[in-house]
Amino acid sequence: MDLILFGMQGSGKGTQSKYLATFAHLQVFETGAQLRRLAQEESELGQKVKSIIESGNLVPTEVVMEIISNFIHHLPEGKNALFDGIPRSKDQQEQFDALLKKENREFKCLNIKISEEEALKRLTTRRLCKKCKAVYPAFYAKETCEACGGELETRRDDTPDAIRVRIDTFLEKTQPVIDDYDSRGLMLTVNGEQSIEDVTKDSVEAIKPYF
Ligand SMILES: [Zn+2]
Repeated sequence: MDLILFGMQGSGKGTQSKYLATFAHLQVFETGAQLRRLAQEESELGQKVKSIIESGNLVPTEVVMEIISNFIHHLPEGKNALFDGIPRSKDQQEQFDALLKKENREFKCLNIKISEEEALKRLTTRRLCKKCKAVYPAFYAKETCEACGGELETRRDDTPDAIRVRIDTFLEKTQPVIDDYDSRGLMLTVNGEQSIEDVTKDSVEAIKPYF
């Protein structure tokens, strides 16, 4: 069984994906990371990705699907996939569902649900390490990075307007995907407005029957 993880910006999805991957023996697919990795490869797909990135164009959905297909075929023995942040639009979802069906893969979805207000609040108050780019939530009290000791600063692209745009894009493009999986009985939902530990606990409880 594969898992597709959803969550609005600020939901802590990235943090949870690491825990859930360990718990359920899943290999994380995160589009950005896969693109960066492939661009370093000599393979045909790697070179294709590299030239798209260098041209500054968005990676077309067809190529993203090719990358997912490649990822599925190279999963380590005994591991299933955790898709983090994909599909993010109805357009992607159609091709994604078709691909998973063709590959005979079953999946469940998990949504770490937070309200728009909570997302706004969290995103405007989070900080970023200048050195290693680790992200820290508002409640992290120290002035320096836990991992590398670097100085923390507010993200330059975390202006209220930019955040508003990211949230609106999520509501407009990704929420319909969530609603669709929900209507098909594939969606598990947890309350994301709790401590990281409690969200992890609830998420593990939710997925446990299937993994
Ligand atoms: Zn750091």
